[in-house]
Amino acid sequence: MPAGSDNMVSPLEPYNLFTTDPVLANAIEREGGGRGADHDLLVEFGERVGSDEVFEWGHLANRHSPELVTHDRNGNRVDEVEFHPAYHSLMELSVSAGIHCMRYEREPGDGGYVTRNALMYLISQVEVGHCCPTSMTGAVMPALRHQPDLAEVWGPRLVSRSYDPRLIVPDQKTGSLMGMGLTEKQGGSDVRANTSTAAPVNGGGPGGEHRLTGHKWFTSAPMSDAFLTLAQAPKGLSCFLVPRILPDGSRNSLHFQRLKDKLGNRSNASGELEYTDAAGWMVGEEGRGVPTIIEMVNGTRIDCTNWSAAMMRQAVAQAAWHVSHRTAFGANLIDKPLMRNVLADLELEAEAATLMTARISGAYDRSAIDPDEAALARLGTGVAKYWLTKRAAPVVREALECVGGNGYVEESILPRLYREVPLNAIWEGAGNVIALDVLRAMARSPQSTDVFLAELGRAQGADPILDAAVARLRSTIVELDTAEANARRLVEQMAMCWAAALLVQHGDSAASDAYVRSRLGGDWGSELGTLPPDAALEAIARRALPVP
Ligand SMILES: Cc1cc2nc3c(=O)[nH]c(=O)nc-3n(C[C@H](O)[C@H](O)[C@H](O)COP(=O)(O)OP(=O)(O)OC[C@H]3O[C@@H](n4cnc5c(N)ncnc54)[C@H](O)[C@@H]3O)c2cc1C
Repeated sequence: MPAGSDNMVSPLEPYNLFTTDPVLANAIEREGGGRGADHDLLVEFGERVGSDEVFEWGHLANRHSPELVTHDRNGNRVDEVEFHPAYHSLMELSVSAGIHCMRYEREPGDGGYVTRNALMYLISQVEVGHCCPTSMTGAVMPALRHQPDLAEVWGPRLVSRSYDPRLIVPDQKTGSLMGMGLTEKQGGSDVRANTSTAAPVNGGGPGGEHRLTGHKWFTSAPMSDAFLTLAQAPKGLSCFLVPRILPDGSRNSLHFQRLKDKLGNRSNASGELEYTDAAGWMVGEEGRGVPTIIEMVNGTRIDCTNWSAAMMRQAVAQAAWHVSHRTAFGANLIDKPLMRNVLADLELEAEAATLMTARISGAYDRSAIDPDEAALARLGTGVAKYWLTKRAAPVVREALECVGGNGYVEESILPRLYREVPLNAIWEGAGNVIALDVLRAMARSPQSTDVFLAELGRAQGADPILDAAVARLRSTIVELDTAEANARRLVEQMAMCWAAALLVQHGDSAASDAYVRSRLGGDWGSELGTLPPDAALEAIARRALPVP
């Protein structure tokens, strides 16, 4: 029985995270993923990540945060990070599943990237900290290909399914991880303010060796085998590959000062790195470091959206499980009208997030063969990154409250999710920066605006409230030149219209009706749990329960 005589609800886990999530399964299938063998893979992976063992790894890897070891017993610098065995188990699971490399193993448009994102969505519900290195490693190849000789040397190990945490000469490793170093003390969003320098050795230039000196204020996954790093070369800010171990086996002059003591994301190490004449090889054109590395950032931005959607799903599933089995005042909580309203409102956010994430995954999967999908992926990633990373915080907080006092206690996964969610709205571009990036994308590429509006147009005629909201959005977009102070409002409208359009086309009709009336029709309060009382609250709330 899920609740004992003491009314304490037994844990939701173990459960299969994939087979209990029909919203995800249907959405990714529509986008070309999760079919045939990919379906079997997801069923198997959903079972594995939902096991007691993997949930426990998640708790252990966060309770026992990584530790920095700067020196050995003789006082020599070693600059290593020690992790709890549970962290290594999680990495082994993700890497062997190919989360970091599946997109390179498949053909554009065959659904491989959609399936990969679904795998990421599943495991990040259980433990998201270790997903940082798999995300960066998975995103690096488009940037690295700007320097084909380096891509040829590093590529095979970066796309290998072997997790090899040994700090040894790169070419002896069976698999490698890649981090990135953009942020410096004086500026993270504005990387043009970077002051780290790169002095050429033997003439420098693309692919050439340089010596890097400077400080990187945030570098996550510092135990990675190499970093793509920005530094000022003679012709301007450029991108470099900086390995930790040099080809001759010696350690590069790259010193870890401290690890950050973070609000959440505690299983993942984030360090302050000092480069002192460190060897690095230029990737791509000199002076074009930002456009080069942004190709890596695009991939990690999608993961931020995916993680936000995943954590919303996990929090809402935990809340639904609890209120379905906990009784108060003579009935299960889910049968109390006000709790139904709260859970239904949470479910709307979680479903909208899952549909939007799947849609972007599909657009990316097809972007190499379909220019319209490429344009949608470009603009849609910004819209979703802004909106979903923001929505995750109130959703997780409210889901935690549904579980009452037990939700505030660490043994439930909810405090960890609550501490984790704000991060996705900061790294890979904080909220304002992303909102302004959306404006820039629309200004630079009117085609992407047209494609986005056409995407909304697919739902035209289904709901008059949605049609009116899209018409308002169109007129706001026309006034783009006055838009900077209005950027958040605009992106918010774009996101909610998009979510509503997806729900209207592909979602449950009760859910889409409630979403449109509340989010676009103004029939809503300022907290979650304020849907109009005549919405189909019971039916929507019950959709949140993870049942096969
Ligand atoms: C846990 C963690 C791990 C990280 N890991 C890495 C990593 O591995 N590699 C790496 O390079 N960086 C990493 N970062 C750094 C992260 O990417 C930056 O913190 C982020 O880009 C913001 O930069 P900043 O901290 O310098 O803030 P700032 O750039 O100073 O921004 C502060 C605020 O101002 C806003 N803002 C900025 N510009 C504008 C504008 N034009 N108009 C209006 N508002 C604006 C921003 O939205 C933000 O809210 C990490 C950060 C964290 C917290």
